[in-house]
Amino acid sequence: MNNLTQIIDETIAALEEMKRSGVTHIEVSRETLEELEEAPVVVEAAFPQRPGVGRGQEAAPTKEMVELARIEARAKACVLCKELARCRANVVFGVGNPRAELMFIGEAPGADEDAQGEPFVGRAGQLLTKIIQAMGYRREDVYIANVLKCRPPENRTPLPDEVTNCLPYLLSQIELIRPKVIVALGATALRALLDVQLGITKLRGHWYTFREIPIMPTFHPAYLLRNPPAKREVWDDMKAVLEKLGRKVSH
Ligand code: URA
Repeated sequence: MNNLTQIIDETIAALEEMKRSGVTHIEVSRETLEELEEAPVVVEAAFPQRPGVGRGQEAAPTKEMVELARIEARAKACVLCKELARCRANVVFGVGNPRAELMFIGEAPGADEDAQGEPFVGRAGQLLTKIIQAMGYRREDVYIANVLKCRPPENRTPLPDEVTNCLPYLLSQIELIRPKVIVALGATALRALLDVQLGITKLRGHWYTFREIPIMPTFHPAYLLRNPPAKREVWDDMKAVLEKLGRKVSH
């Protein structure tokens, strides 16, 4: 951990302690806010294992990685959704390769993700990791994000205002990563990007396009946990994704 990362971590810990003890506001001058906007971004914290970088050979971060880290820092300080900001343990921004050819988008963090600050790490997440591996990737090869970056209480469906507030973060992630293919996990993920009304059973298995990027909607892994036979359809959808990416498909 470098000095700057340590200072930021200690500042966050101090602010969280103040919040726990009942402090709801702190005064910050306009000048300080402007200086914070200009503060150097800690790319190492955002991408601890930079793709293609081995020990002792630190490749320079691309401008997209710096911008992604800047947006992550902004998301971590976001309080637009009052209820979510009050209840969250962590903002769950996204994880993976900032140059991924394949991006998965889920709905919102659950309890495990909120606790660990990483998307798809609970039971549904473990199943997603297996799907990614069955496709011939490692989890760190792809990029994984959610529509909402904060956990809705009791895992309720995101409210329209929450999606509106949070969507700019996802749109920036998509623009900066520019994956070749997006997989939308469940109808909420697809509906956040496209004006579609159908349910996931009708949507899945068909290609859509968002800003010239092909999107394949499929069942959410949480649905697969409740309904294992649907894994067959998800695998069909993932085979279509692999074909679109020009990768080998095992049947
Ligand atoms: N479900 C989601 O949609 N996202 C997660 O990160 C975890 C569960």
